[in-house]
Amino acid sequence: MLKWLRMLEDFILPPPSYCPLCGENPLTRLECCPKCLADLAIDWRLEKICGRLTAHLFVYQGYGRQIVQQLKFHGGYRAAVAVGALLGRALKETPEFSRVDLLVPVPLHPVRERRRGFNQSQALALGIKSHWHRQIFRGVVRRRETPAQSGLSWQERQANIQRAFAAVGGTDLRGRVCLIVDDVITSGATFHGVAQVLESLGATCLGVCAGRAVLEKGKN
Ligand SMILES: [Zn+2]
Repeated sequence: MLKWLRMLEDFILPPPSYCPLCGENPLTRLECCPKCLADLAIDWRLEKICGRLTAHLFVYQGYGRQIVQQLKFHGGYRAAVAVGALLGRALKETPEFSRVDLLVPVPLHPVRERRRGFNQSQALALGIKSHWHRQIFRGVVRRRETPAQSGLSWQERQANIQRAFAAVGGTDLRGRVCLIVDDVITSGATFHGVAQVLESLGATCLGVCAGRAVLEKGKN
């Protein structure tokens, strides 16, 4: 029901004339206002996580952290699409990602998605797609909810995430290059869990996230 309402809202409402991140400043050319853009401290960086090339837009702290929390917990669908569009612009300019042909949003468990009303990674992928035309692949599902991951070590996260994701439909992904999309990467355990499923279908995996969390010292 919520999904339908949102689709209708997108058709009926004109594009937002105010910044979807702060809701205060008028929009000009970009997806968010210049103040939000400055406060996000965008710093597009590429790194290898679990041996796979991954990029992030900002560090998960300060305003970036606030925005990611907003996407997740305060019905920030439009904010997620806007951040996705910023990711799309960055991806488009990054040759290392040019061979990607599928976007794979990290799935939420259906119960959590119903509760939240949308999957923030899916909304990010829709935003990416608005600037960088790639198909969205929905053949990975979350079979069980994983407990909150914060404060856990890599081994504990990995144990939590194991078997949480599964492929549906038996798609053959040999020769396909998938870009896993998530709102925030901390240890990379979730990203690794989804990548393993896709790789078992023959795909090569890369990753992108909005915020990169820096783990506390002593955690790995
Ligand atoms: Zn703003």
